[in-house]
Amino acid sequence: MPSPAVGARVVVPLGSRTVTGVVVGLPAAADLSGPDLKLVRQVLDHDAFIPVDVLELAQWTAEYYGAGPGETIAAVLPPKARGTRADAHKTVRMAAATAAGIEALAGGAALTPRQREAMALLAGAPAGLPTPVLAARGIGADLVGRLARKHLVSLRRERVDRDPFLTAPSGRPPDDPNRPLTDEQARALDRLSRLAAAGEFRVALLQGVTGSGKTEVYVRLANAVRDAGRRVLMLVPEIALTPAIWWIFRHVFGERVAIQHSGLSDGERHDQWQQIRRGEIDVVVGTRSAVFAPLPDVGLIVVDEEHDASYKQEESPRYNGRDVAIVRGQRAGALVVLGSATPSLESSYNARAGRYERVVLERRVLERPLAAVSVVDMREEYADVGPDVVLSRALIGAVAARLERGEQSLVLLNRRGFATSVFCRQCSGTLECPNCSVSLVVHGEGAARRGRCHYCNYSVRVPAACPSCAGPYLEQAGFGTERVEAEVKRACPGARVARLDRDAVRHKGALGRLLTRFRDGDIDVLVGTQMIAKGHDFPRVTFVGVVSADVGLGMADFRASERTFQLLTQVAGRAGRGERPGEAVIQTIFPTHYSIQLACRQDYESFYERELTFRRAMRYPPLVSLVNVVVRSRTFAGAMGDAADIAQSLRQGSRDAFQILGPAPAPLGRLRGEYRAQLLVKGTNRKRMREAVQSAIAGRSDLARRTIVDIDPLNVL
Ligand code: ADP
Ligand code: ZN
Repeated sequence: MPSPAVGARVVVPLGSRTVTGVVVGLPAAADLSGPDLKLVRQVLDHDAFIPVDVLELAQWTAEYYGAGPGETIAAVLPPKARGTRADAHKTVRMAAATAAGIEALAGGAALTPRQREAMALLAGAPAGLPTPVLAARGIGADLVGRLARKHLVSLRRERVDRDPFLTAPSGRPPDDPNRPLTDEQARALDRLSRLAAAGEFRVALLQGVTGSGKTEVYVRLANAVRDAGRRVLMLVPEIALTPAIWWIFRHVFGERVAIQHSGLSDGERHDQWQQIRRGEIDVVVGTRSAVFAPLPDVGLIVVDEEHDASYKQEESPRYNGRDVAIVRGQRAGALVVLGSATPSLESSYNARAGRYERVVLERRVLERPLAAVSVVDMREEYADVGPDVVLSRALIGAVAARLERGEQSLVLLNRRGFATSVFCRQCSGTLECPNCSVSLVVHGEGAARRGRCHYCNYSVRVPAACPSCAGPYLEQAGFGTERVEAEVKRACPGARVARLDRDAVRHKGALGRLLTRFRDGDIDVLVGTQMIAKGHDFPRVTFVGVVSADVGLGMADFRASERTFQLLTQVAGRAGRGERPGEAVIQTIFPTHYSIQLACRQDYESFYERELTFRRAMRYPPLVSLVNVVVRSRTFAGAMGDAADIAQSLRQGSRDAFQILGPAPAPLGRLRGEYRAQLLVKGTNRKRMREAVQSAIAGRSDLARRTIVDIDPLNVL
């Protein structure tokens, strides 16, 4: 048997099982002896299944983040690639726009309004839409049949895995691809194109205020890179942002654009993966895992909203998609563009140190002003109106004014549920999760009220009497998005109010549908968590209200100020992106906190200076690197004892090269029934820190299983 290629899949025995693996290297023939060697049962691919560069990137990722190479490579493979047979599924008829159909739509061919509507919908769905979904939108089989006979639509049968509506279009008409750039955009494009044309690795930070037209710069830059014969990876932080970005790229690149993210059905994802692998795709739009897309000859990688915490995977392998993108760019000799209105401290620091090129867009397109932001000091509001106020008079007045003018509002509160806790007036006990050290959050109202744990999902009916003292006076405290939604409805009867948070979009496809309804103007006020703040472009939103801007400031995380500043600046940036100017009202009980004040002025530079001074004084990133170590155990003493062992071993090995904080009970001291102790390792030599932690748990496989090692953590709670 000839040797399989590196990157090929092979079937091998593992213990008593037979599994599919990937060839990562071929030892010299002389080394092929010894009792532990097993014969490969079957070679599944003639050539590499995973391209060798992607395989090596996965191995780099595994090593850097201290993860297993097996689990990392598995995360890079498309679904179903490991030979597991999918269950029998039912099938559905899928309709998709053909290339001729897209052209007919763009070229203004003779189509009836209903045909045009159908084509616009289909042009926005890469893998097509199931005919029942079309029927639900009033596009019946006869209409689809007519379009198919004109060869504008193709029909096929596909297995149903998940709700395919997730990839449905945003409904927004494409921008004119030939409209003139602003001077700033043109200058930015010119500099970036030159960097890309050099064909060498370079990182550029594109710092552009919200609404400065960064997307337009990405598209034109991608076009230049494609014309030079290379390919483009376009990363966005959220699945919900992919359809809109994909739609924009689709109009420039036609069918040579693919989507990669975990919300696609296995079938769709697999098909697109294969197309990318075969070189049929020029642009891949996707979330963090798309950084491993099997795209040959990458010349440009864009990481949009690079500061966003969603780029970090919070389970093993705990990689940061932005940082892996930079490594991929380095290996491919590509330009990496990090885009944001509020760059991470890390990226700004690198830019100022000259490691990254810095390209700035200071103004919004077409002289549109940034939103005018004002602050409401809620302590005064409580004094004037009462202690139970949720929405200030200023916020309600602003929403009401929008309703009169037929404009839209966003209202942000970064906390889910109706009330944040339930307590007993008699014994002052609170309703807590039996598995985690947190209080239960109340969801729903009246008889349907339930207390739910936001960490382990434990849920219980809110009892009528206190479970510990039987006292009859149970009260609710604090409030979340459900309460805000109810308050907006109460204050503005007749308004069409909807809520966007993880609870509201639990079902696949719900998020896309909600965003489409909002964009189509079927919703007046959208209440939500940080999900409403991210990158969306809703031209009819002219008001943004923030309820409790300080939610995140109470957290014991050194990035609390940075997150608050970013969230407030980003959400204020959602207002006034269309022709009418925007306004924002921020409610807070800390009106003088620098992250709130500077977000109101949208003054990133001052925020950066201020925050960097704090990080320097406290020795936090970007001035040092961190490794977060969390030990889990069934008992508190067990967790603390094991963490102390690791700390001792680290202290012995550190020779002052790094510093160890802890062990201490983790801020979330108990989770899913396990106690958690934490160590934070700080230093400048990340590799040494990682190796020291690995050697402290080496040889203790039980402890290793219970220990979470997070390199460059974003979340230290
Ligand atoms: P950012 O990502 O920087 O916040 P977007 O790329 O979403 O901003 O652009 C904001 C809005 O400005 C979008 O509606 C976009 O269509 C529009 N836009 C971008 N460039 C131009 C331009 N050169 N002329 C007119 N409108 C533009
Ligand atoms: Zn819990």
